[in-house]
Amino acid sequence: MDQLYINKDRESLVVEELQEEVKRLKENINQLEQQIHYIQKNCKHVFLEFEGFRKCIKCQKIDVQYY
Ligand SMILES: [Zn+2]
Repeated sequence: MDQLYINKDRESLVVEELQEEVKRLKENINQLEQQIHYIQKNCKHVFLEFEGFRKCIKCQKIDVQYY
């Protein structure tokens, strides 16, 4: 009877679920980045020197060096 409506509704639900999932994952990424930022901010860096940059062996923070 109302096949079109049902199909459309189901797709809409799937999209809504996916959008929720994307939102959740973005929030998750945000939290993880804040954790990394916090660790790097409080790290007593031990840098390894590379060409053009240096990298902390403890927290992985990279400092680009400009000459
Ligand atoms: Zn560090």
